[in-house]
Amino acid sequence: MSDNGARKAFTICAPHCGNFPCSFAVEANGEGIASFRANPAMRIKPCIKGFQIPDRYNHSDRLLYPLKRVGEKGSGPGGANRFERTSWDEALDLVARGLEAAKAKGGNESVMMYHYASQHTMPGGRDGNPATIMRLLNMWGGAIQPYLRGSLCWKAFLGGSADVFGHWQIRNRPNADCDWIVIWGNNPVETGYRGLMQSLQEAKRGGTRFIAVDPMRTRSVNRFADRHVPIRPSTDTALALAVLRHMLAEGAADEDFLRKRTNAPFLVNEEDGAFLTAPDGTPLAWDEAAGEARPFGACERPALYGSFQAGGKACRTAFDHLRAAAEPWTPARAAKECGVSEEDVRAIAGAVRKGKVVVYYGAYQRTVHGEQAVRALHILNLVTGGFGGVLRHGGASDSFQLPRATDAGLADVVASRWGVPNLVQRTVPVGQIAEAILNPGAHGGPIHAALVMWGNPVGQAGDAHKTERALRALDFCAVSDIFMTPTAKCADVVLPASTWLERCAITEGLETGATFFHLIPEIAPRHVVMFSSGAMPQRGESLDDFEIVCRLAEKMGYGDHFPWKSSREWVEELVAAARQDERFPWFRDLTMEKLEAEGMVILDIPEPENSWDLQTPQGRARLYFEGKKTPVPTYIPPDEVAQKGGRKPLQLITPKTYFRASSTFNNAEKLLRGDWNVATLNPADAGARGISAGDRIRIYNGFGETAYRAKVSEDIRPGVVHIPAGGLPEQGAANHLTGDALSEYENAAQNSYSVEVEKAG
Ligand code: SF4
Repeated sequence: MSDNGARKAFTICAPHCGNFPCSFAVEANGEGIASFRANPAMRIKPCIKGFQIPDRYNHSDRLLYPLKRVGEKGSGPGGANRFERTSWDEALDLVARGLEAAKAKGGNESVMMYHYASQHTMPGGRDGNPATIMRLLNMWGGAIQPYLRGSLCWKAFLGGSADVFGHWQIRNRPNADCDWIVIWGNNPVETGYRGLMQSLQEAKRGGTRFIAVDPMRTRSVNRFADRHVPIRPSTDTALALAVLRHMLAEGAADEDFLRKRTNAPFLVNEEDGAFLTAPDGTPLAWDEAAGEARPFGACERPALYGSFQAGGKACRTAFDHLRAAAEPWTPARAAKECGVSEEDVRAIAGAVRKGKVVVYYGAYQRTVHGEQAVRALHILNLVTGGFGGVLRHGGASDSFQLPRATDAGLADVVASRWGVPNLVQRTVPVGQIAEAILNPGAHGGPIHAALVMWGNPVGQAGDAHKTERALRALDFCAVSDIFMTPTAKCADVVLPASTWLERCAITEGLETGATFFHLIPEIAPRHVVMFSSGAMPQRGESLDDFEIVCRLAEKMGYGDHFPWKSSREWVEELVAAARQDERFPWFRDLTMEKLEAEGMVILDIPEPENSWDLQTPQGRARLYFEGKKTPVPTYIPPDEVAQKGGRKPLQLITPKTYFRASSTFNNAEKLLRGDWNVATLNPADAGARGISAGDRIRIYNGFGETAYRAKVSEDIRPGVVHIPAGGLPEQGAANHLTGDALSEYENAAQNSYSVEVEKAG
């Protein structure tokens, strides 16, 4: 109790914003929420979105009762959407019957469980098997989980990084070494709010200078950049190759580092592109001292450049292949292709020297060949020896088949205690669920039913109309959400879920966000467990996700396996189990009392050391990707994307913004008052179309159209239109203009489409 008699509690914000989670202290009295503040234990305060949680709880659009569809589903945008209130009993009966009917028709392989990014807390959500709903569905025989294959946002980064390092958690050199930082395709002021932005600010205060590569003069460009390079979207690989070429010409390569840490000296057979190896499989290199090919370890001085004959085979070093890929990219050619100046190329090359940093994980990866750019940018740092190693974590487990350094092990405790294997082997890329539903031949057979919890594919996936059509075409679809999202409108049954304020939940992660660039030791990530006590009563008949699953389990005949009376009981059991789990000694002191009292408990997990023990063949970073169609980074022009109805004259970019976490918070009224939800176009493009600032404009292409208010600004380069991602259709929805093409790593390629714009009539 506080002095004024209000109940004190804590809650969590965990929408998978890229910085999650955050902890908040709540005071509640009989009249509602008396105070809502950041948990004082947090070193970096939450962003503005988290402070909308009370409004989200009280929002007039909250779903308060279970709904069932009446009448036809209709199809396409604005299809029939008539729902009537029903009881939880009938709603869950319908869900159980809908899932059973699909199973009877097509087996468990025809049932999809769509969960994505909106609710990263336990016991309700969390990715993968540990999620409570997957325990139930796996007991029932399993279901397709698209989330486990691909990502709408960052799989190109994960895949491209794993290509180079065998791992995605990369540690750069500390701040002290940075004279220059290149922020490439990243807008940390808006999206790397907790951790990365502070690191960069600290660097700026310490005298580091910045180059920002971005088609838009973003808030980050304004805040940090000494030089802005307004690149043409999707040409990042070309620019990176030009920078590499210039660096090599200037002698900036750290040759000792390349020999010691990378596969640069390995000899590549000219005939098939494979490495030449000794009989025991050791790659061969050309020993300059001996004048012959030898197993790498036996070379006195392995050559980095050159063509040779080894065992009668023509070969070249891997590094020579990389050099040859960069060679055509003169500053003049890059300037023309990328829409930058030759001096920009030289300036970036000058900045990316040993001990300097390229910051990436940016929007360029959300293009159809984004992984090429990810690889190329990693290689820029590698060539100068600019990486400190790969971050390893002692308590790692697997998430997305990659080591999970952002978690401390609660998910593993859940998996070992309550996990049930999913018997459904079938997978579907998350960015192509619509294709999988509408075209059963595309991804391994028909899908008859879907259960959607913590996700809004119609609001997020490429080609919103197609996704909507697909969900409406299912025999059965149930959606659990807080609001009537565009996805919920496609459902047969809508289940009203509770907000973070109402549910008892726990989550774990890095307090300063899952940033990969730990530049500032003072805010090095602390591993934390955060707790939400369920500070507020449930509104209407909304239910905690966990309780929805338990009640559904009862309907599906698995009630005995879900004996908990409340999510709090489950959380208590989890905390007790974690304390006893010998794999994770840092949980020994974790208690419910502590969680209740502090809301956020810092775990004493040893800070991982930098490591060069890479999970790659020979443990070396790769500059050459043996077996790939493009074994060195290759620029593939952005035109090569499935653009419905042909290309339009303007390139669309649809980045994430400060004001939404994907589509979460898109109806937060205070945030909607800001002047941010606009389509930005250059005065040259606006003028040519008779558009003035503030005009309503229609943006369209073969996928659809959407309406926006125009912002006319030199901040955006000519030929490009900028629309924030995640808007509701009535606010302007970028994904009405994008397709569902995927990159090599099944990343959605939503920055690869083109549009035309006209003044609305
Ligand atoms: S949206 Fe992200 S950074 Fe903002 S409060 Fe929530 S968890 Fe924190």
